Amino acid sequence: MTEVAPRTDPKPPVGVDPTRASIARVYDAFLNGKDNYEIDREVLRGVQKKAPEAQDLATENRGFLIRATRFIAHQTGVTQYLDCGSGLPTAENTHQVAQRINSDSTVVYIDNDPVVLAHGRALLEENEQTHFSAADIFNPQQVLEDEVVRRHLDFTQPIALFQMGTLHHYTGSDNLVDMMQNYIDALPTGSYVAISHFLDPENEYSTVARKMEDVFLHSPMGSGTFRTKSEIEALFCGLDMVDPGLVLCADWWPDGPQLKPLNQVQYCIAGGIARKN
Ligand code: SAM
Repeated sequence: MTEVAPRTDPKPPVGVDPTRASIARVYDAFLNGKDNYEIDREVLRGVQKKAPEAQDLATENRGFLIRATRFIAHQTGVTQYLDCGSGLPTAENTHQVAQRINSDSTVVYIDNDPVVLAHGRALLEENEQTHFSAADIFNPQQVLEDEVVRRHLDFTQPIALFQMGTLHHYTGSDNLVDMMQNYIDALPTGSYVAISHFLDPENEYSTVARKMEDVFLHSPMGSGTFRTKSEIEALFCGLDMVDPGLVLCADWWPDGPQLKPLNQVQYCIAGGIARKN
């Protein structure tokens, strides 16, 4: 593993303070969940003022996570998952999708939000192959050396590393590509990396992307950067992209034909999977 530089973003998680929005609770509000406060719903309403279809950012993201997990479980033989930024339990979670297809699958979830720790742990750790650890996903060294991660994942065998809906929330000054490279260096050959990320599509929908970004960044949540396709591709650090590459989440192997035209928000979130050869 390459040397990990010291971190420059010690931003603490917001805790259970109902006067501060948290990423996990805002995402839960976007998904119509119940584990959120008024301050979190305020962020949702602010984004909806700019784009009424704003919740599709979350539903497209979660749909991609589920299809990506299905793909890995069905097609690759990988049975180990390191899911960075689990979020609050919702329908469905990574371990449920993976273990339905291959009951031998082991999933380790990482999150640092106290509400996720409180509500999530019990629900997410529902069997002996599903584990949870509190760590900072933007500190690869901490995650990779985490006791739960090391106890339950075998780093001599391929691992699926998930950064779903997480990297756009990094607000520190470390280089995100270097951060991802540190994770990737630790993965054995045959591993997969899946990323979903807010997208500036650099077309007529750029304006709505930047308007949503402005609300997120200036909201009580304070994060949510929309990157361009090439900026997001760089986060895969040169790994071989699985067909069809980095595309709109809506276009990544959808479950059926797309009969309705995509709305403006569906153009603003992308996902992809790559393999370490
Ligand atoms: N990965 C899930 C998905 O795609 O459906 C949840 C995405 S949610 C938008 C992002 C999650 O990352 C939240 O649960 C949040 O608490 C977590 N998160 C954000 N920053 C984190 C950090 N520095 N360390 C650990 N978890 C973090």
